Amino acid sequence: MSTKGNKESNWNYRDSARLYNIDNWSSGYFAVNEEGEVIVKAPVGDNQVEDVSLVEIATGLQERGLEMPVLLRLENLVDARLREINESFNEAIRAAKYKGKYRGAFPVKVNQQYHVISEIVRFGKRYHHGLEVGSKAELLIALSIMEDRESLIICNGYKDQEFIDLALQARVLGYKCFFVIENPSEIPLIINRSRELEIDPMIGTRLKLSTKVEGHWSEDSGDRSLFGLNINQLIQVVDMLKEAEMLHCFQLLHFHLGSQIPNIRNIRQGILEACRYYIDLCNEGAPLRYMDIGGGLAVDYNGTCSTDGHSRNYNIQEYCADIVEAIQESLDEYDLPHPTIISESGRATVAHTAVLLFNVLEVTRFQPGPIPESLPDDTPEPIVNLLEVTKAVDPGRIQECFNDVLHYRSQVRDLFSRGEINLRTVAVADNLYLHVLQQIVSQMGSLKRIPPEIESLPEQLADIYYSNFSVFQSLPDAWAINQVFPVMPIHRLNEEPTQQAVIADITCDCDGKLHNFSHIDDYSTTLPLHPFKLGEEYYIGVFLVGAYQETLGDLHNLFGDTNIASIRVNEDRTFDLVHEFEGDSISDVLTYVEYEPQNLFQSFRKKAERAVKSGRITIQQRQTMIRLFEESLRGYTYFEK
Ligand SMILES: *Cc1c(COP(=O)(O)O)cnc(C)c1O
Repeated sequence: MSTKGNKESNWNYRDSARLYNIDNWSSGYFAVNEEGEVIVKAPVGDNQVEDVSLVEIATGLQERGLEMPVLLRLENLVDARLREINESFNEAIRAAKYKGKYRGAFPVKVNQQYHVISEIVRFGKRYHHGLEVGSKAELLIALSIMEDRESLIICNGYKDQEFIDLALQARVLGYKCFFVIENPSEIPLIINRSRELEIDPMIGTRLKLSTKVEGHWSEDSGDRSLFGLNINQLIQVVDMLKEAEMLHCFQLLHFHLGSQIPNIRNIRQGILEACRYYIDLCNEGAPLRYMDIGGGLAVDYNGTCSTDGHSRNYNIQEYCADIVEAIQESLDEYDLPHPTIISESGRATVAHTAVLLFNVLEVTRFQPGPIPESLPDDTPEPIVNLLEVTKAVDPGRIQECFNDVLHYRSQVRDLFSRGEINLRTVAVADNLYLHVLQQIVSQMGSLKRIPPEIESLPEQLADIYYSNFSVFQSLPDAWAINQVFPVMPIHRLNEEPTQQAVIADITCDCDGKLHNFSHIDDYSTTLPLHPFKLGEEYYIGVFLVGAYQETLGDLHNLFGDTNIASIRVNEDRTFDLVHEFEGDSISDVLTYVEYEPQNLFQSFRKKAERAVKSGRITIQQRQTMIRLFEESLRGYTYFEK
């Protein structure tokens, strides 16, 4: 009996949970249950958590006609994340006896979808959690959806007169709406327009700090950052406001060190630097009362709790405590009142709240056939040598075996191109070659150092799981900046996942794949999955996709928006489908690229009619074709059953 057989029979959901590291990246919102399914642990009410299986949700959606791929939004988690952020700040403030308040502002750019913003505004209201906007369009969203006048609206970005007028009208309506100045040239406009409208603007400035942060999204920080005022510009702004007798409107300092800041030391440094500005500006006579620390609170995408770019070396409680204490210590030294602390966490608010679910359609494997017992007498020497190598692979000789098989295989190819051997003989050689490579891959794990030449072998020999989604539409950051998201099957987790796989989407683009996965201790180009069984659904979930992915997605190969389902879990463990949106139809995506579906249909109909006239098809065939065309226009852009 092989040890492998043993291991398989003992494998259970706990092994899967460990393998996919779910407890470390899920922040407690997802787990694996005894049935071997991924569950969402949905907070319902203050101290109650209900478990609902994602498979149950997925099948429930399919029964309602919502096909894969589906973007699943979990309403309870939006509520839970807002609570976590606000209560962590409030707790840090209580613990430090800090005398200011905390106010959050969700940056609309992170997920502008109507239902997401509505939920944030609705659940955020009890904490006066506001919105951060970076354009006129986003300001219009805030003005129409926000009701609570205590919540803040923070206006970043470049502002023309219309933008300024809109924000001033918001002041007239009673909103606490801040201009954050990105450029001194905005000041004269704001002064003039506010005098005309006879309302005091609320003004902040965006600082360009010299603190540089580590991580993937750090271009926003440091002296060369694109955004914010340098010191000369800041002084210019102060002087202009003084001269207009409007310095009393200057109440807020803003900085944004970048998104996904992995190292808490950088955050602390940034705060300390900003406090220096705060103190000196107060000395200049600016009545500052708000410190806006921007976004940057990171999500632990790979569950390593480290300074890796996909992780963070702090939790939210430490983050809040560090910020509160750093501001308090800096300002106490100068006897300055404690400002209201504002943060603009986007990623950390919504990443957990969405899961992309899709099904696997087909699998391609690179599995060699059996090794022949012996070869015919007239077998060319390179093939005989290949057979020898299959028997010789061991961890001490991996590099040597690899070099040998490459050499013999190229000799085989030469024989073939000279016409000395035929295709069937080459196939025998290729099978032996594949055997050796598979053995190398299975023994690589025991090597201390992996030679660079064989590093990419696991990916090259991995199974390809063709799956029903588009990376470009649903996970654009996985493609554009190689971002790692947690990926795992959502069922069969009491079974050992024996296959090493990459996941290919259904665009015909070689970049349309997931091949960067995080495991407990390292990254890998392959993901363990279960053997695919034809005729049986195999569902995969990509987690933590609620931030940035939806609006950045594009129409590569004309795969459109996926179906979206917004779910609310109730206290009795049932779930409601709060909103469902059918994804784009083929007709929708054709309109986006300026086709007129009705015209396409007419012109196809004419073609079919001409074919009838010339006797190439019957009238019945014409009807079938036309109906098919029409139904396709109405249908989903993804693979349908
Ligand atoms: C993008 C952005 C944010 C959000 O950053 P996260 O890291 O997602 O929290 C906040 N503020 C400003 C000004 C931004 O540009």
